[in-house]
Amino acid sequence: MNSSPSVEGKIVAITGASSGIGEATARHLAKKGALVVLGARRTDRLEKLVSELRAQGARAEFRSLDVTQRKSVAEFVRFGVERHGRLDVLVNNAGLMPLSPLAALQVDEWDRMIDVNIKGVLYGIAAALPVFERQGHGHIINTSSIAAYRSLPTAAVYCATKTAVNFITEGLRQESSSIRTTIISPGVTESELAHTVTHAATAEWLAKYRETAIPADAIARAVAFAIEQPDSVDVNEIVVRPTAAQ
Ligand code: NDP
Repeated sequence: MNSSPSVEGKIVAITGASSGIGEATARHLAKKGALVVLGARRTDRLEKLVSELRAQGARAEFRSLDVTQRKSVAEFVRFGVERHGRLDVLVNNAGLMPLSPLAALQVDEWDRMIDVNIKGVLYGIAAALPVFERQGHGHIINTSSIAAYRSLPTAAVYCATKTAVNFITEGLRQESSSIRTTIISPGVTESELAHTVTHAATAEWLAKYRETAIPADAIARAVAFAIEQPDSVDVNEIVVRPTAAQ
């Protein structure tokens, strides 16, 4: 067991590590001495990232992951545990945000948001929880959003998924006295998140809304802060917004 108040030496699995916040978190934690196990569907991106991190002397591995498939998430967590004998932190970060007005009836996109943003997080918890209980320690970090606190036109389903993430995380916190839980709630952050928007008018509005975006590394530093506390200290939530945000 690694119980030192530090990122160094921790085994940290990160979902959605192929771009944006997940990639920045992988880079930051690896630089601070964590062994990062990275998952996403775009394995070409992960392979490149892992090569780059290793060339810098960091410890990193990757595995193909689709968080909508329970088996895939279970295999991802098992991969990390079997190679290293334990898992210290799981960052459930994979997410997407295909915003649109409800009246546009982009029901397939509602389904995808529910599958990735909610069920993906639940599958991560299902895979890691038995490992953490066996170890007697562990840390689930779920990437939520400021969208969890206010519903907005075009964002009803997305906001609902992030509210669900908050309630699931808080429920887990209350049920366990040995497992740490952290909600990371970013405001507008540089990433590929807006690429998933297919509704033209929403994409146009969003481009303007996202002009104040902060670098993804700002969120990565918040993740590191939560991890590097002593085991007895659980940072329950961190909200990180652009200073210029309303
Ligand atoms: P990106 O689009 O850059 O990253 C999303 C990541 O999720 C990618 O690595 C993608 O990998 C992964 N992903 C998507 N679907 C799946 C899937 N089915 N299985 C596995 N991985 C998947 O956006 P962000 O970095 O911004 O998003 C990260 C998290 O941050 C999300 O949960 C998002 O909701 C949240 N967030 C982002 C904000 C922002 O302004 N950027 C603000 C608030 C919250 P791949 O496609 O390779 O599978």
